[in-house]
Amino acid sequence: MLSEFNKKSQPKNNGNKSVSGSKFPAAGRAAHKKVFMSRTGMKRSNTPEAETRPSDQLLGTGEEKRSVALVPSKPVEMKAPAEKGTRRTGYGKQGEFPAKRHYTNAADHSVRVTFLGGLNEIGKNITLFECDNDMFLLDCGMAFPDGDMLGVDLVIPDFTYVERNKDKIKGVVLTHGHEDHIGSLPYLLRKINLPVFGTPLTLGLVDSKLKEHNLSGKVKLNTVKPGQRIKLGCMSIEFIHVNHSIPDSVAIAIHTPAGTIVHTGDFKIDCTPTTGGMIDLARFAELGKSGVLCLMAESTNVERPGYTMTEQKVAHTFDVLFREAEKSRIIVATFASNLGRIQQILDCAQKYGRKVAFSGRSMINNMAIASELGYINVPDGLIIDIDLLGRYSKEEIVLITTGSQGETMSALSRMAYSDHRKVEVGPEDYIIISANPMSSSSCTV
Ligand SMILES: [Zn+2]
Repeated sequence: MLSEFNKKSQPKNNGNKSVSGSKFPAAGRAAHKKVFMSRTGMKRSNTPEAETRPSDQLLGTGEEKRSVALVPSKPVEMKAPAEKGTRRTGYGKQGEFPAKRHYTNAADHSVRVTFLGGLNEIGKNITLFECDNDMFLLDCGMAFPDGDMLGVDLVIPDFTYVERNKDKIKGVVLTHGHEDHIGSLPYLLRKINLPVFGTPLTLGLVDSKLKEHNLSGKVKLNTVKPGQRIKLGCMSIEFIHVNHSIPDSVAIAIHTPAGTIVHTGDFKIDCTPTTGGMIDLARFAELGKSGVLCLMAESTNVERPGYTMTEQKVAHTFDVLFREAEKSRIIVATFASNLGRIQQILDCAQKYGRKVAFSGRSMINNMAIASELGYINVPDGLIIDIDLLGRYSKEEIVLITTGSQGETMSALSRMAYSDHRKVEVGPEDYIIISANPMSSSSCTV
């Protein structure tokens, strides 16, 4: 009995057809052929399904970023099983009021999911959902270049398929504000203007990107809250609160005429998060009870056994390290968007009477947005300008800097190579790296 049960509960290996996660390691391997582009020429994979693209793939000129694109993977089609019979599938035409309920067979409809990035790689998360001629994009991220992509600063997805279907796309839905989920958005929006939906912090971070690209005010940014639903064509998108290393992260449930798809986005289950409440597990349970056509779950580090530490435990670790570094200057390298972590460092600095300086443009930018929107609590007088470091002794300082994921231009690596304008790392410095060196970029790390 038990062995029978175990056999049933084993996930089936569907190879390329697997759709169980935005970063599912096995999925899309064969379909993904990298197309490297550079200004001097391009190296193209000679697969028949490879989209041939002219050199206009390079966005911008002069000092601008270069890009690398991925060929879109084959879409995955999902249908409710026919024997499920008739079910309620939403409301009538727009403008029909009171809305008339339509009863159609869910099996008559299907949902197509096309992964334009984010599978079998870290970063560049972008997924296109399609049902009954309506489409929407979920996330629009960037990736950091691998060590062998010389001269490449940023990797963005191939938007060819999106451009081709632009009239059907109702908008871009964002799960959270990490670079690998929002980083490519300006490059997409300057080709196709689409309404964007996200939580306040996510949209705050997006808006600062749009300003950099001269797109601010030209794009419709729609704020959503967990628990809220929006309608995009025949699909209705529900936002569900989750825990992640950046506040205001959401999962989504996509209610379609074919059934409900649950996409977790990036998440962790943290019963004691530093900011916001615990993940809304009750809502996931309710959705599960009412029937889900497909669960698409984040799978980063799923092969590691055990549990992810709660952020409270990480806070305790900082406390221990700060005590240990008593006589040194402390330099903490972390993701610029890991706001929960930065809050812990600020709290620790306050506790041990140290001043905090930030290094790295993305770090300073994110801090400004997060504190303005109230997602981070900065005690008065705690932050000092990096130019004023010389006025304090080493043991009075904490320097928070970027330096993770193999970003070749990250502030920490520049400091280490004496290439930083303001800070040089010496033997008396105590360096804390609070970020996972991601597998895809371990060569450069
Ligand atoms: Zn994330």
